[in-house]
Amino acid sequence: MQGLGSLLLFAVFFYFMMRFGCGTHTVHGSHGGRDGHGLPEAKDPVCGMPVASGDGYAMMFKGRQHRFCSRKCLDQFEREPDRYLSGEGVAR
Ligand SMILES: [Zn+2]
Repeated sequence: MQGLGSLLLFAVFFYFMMRFGCGTHTVHGSHGGRDGHGLPEAKDPVCGMPVASGDGYAMMFKGRQHRFCSRKCLDQFEREPDRYLSGEGVAR
């Protein structure tokens, strides 16, 4: 049963090739579109720009963390936080 053995081995090998090929594609794909899921992305309440976690400036305000794309936006927010929080979700 040498033929069957190698056929089975080939099938298993092929199965793993498919699996790993698929896995690599999934990882590659999720890397590009990780905005939707995975790491949470915050929105700069001042200019409305999306700020990835680990990027820009962070500030705790009323128990919530807000992220800003630049120091300028953070300064603006510190001056009038309520103005930007009331308009959260609206750019500009
Ligand atoms: Zn900004």
